[in-house]
Amino acid sequence: MTHIQADALIAVALGEPPRASDHRHLSHCATCSKHLAALVRIVEAARSSTPADIPQPPPERLWHAIEQAIRYGGASGGPPDHE
Ligand SMILES: [Zn+2]
Repeated sequence: MTHIQADALIAVALGEPPRASDHRHLSHCATCSKHLAALVRIVEAARSSTPADIPQPPPERLWHAIEQAIRYGGASGGPPDHE
């Protein structure tokens, strides 16, 4: 069985209607249906994300503490100070 091409599945996940042959294939192919469902979840997650969801880099002082620990082989005298 030839499965649906990835680009066609992605287009459907993004909201385009499937071609008739792809629609028929999806109705009986568990593999393609599973891939489409995963793509739909990714699209939904991407569309519902906000700037607050973007990971922020750790504070500069944490990188400095890591660098010191690597350079000198241990912690630099305890946890970093609170801001
Ligand atoms: Zn398939």
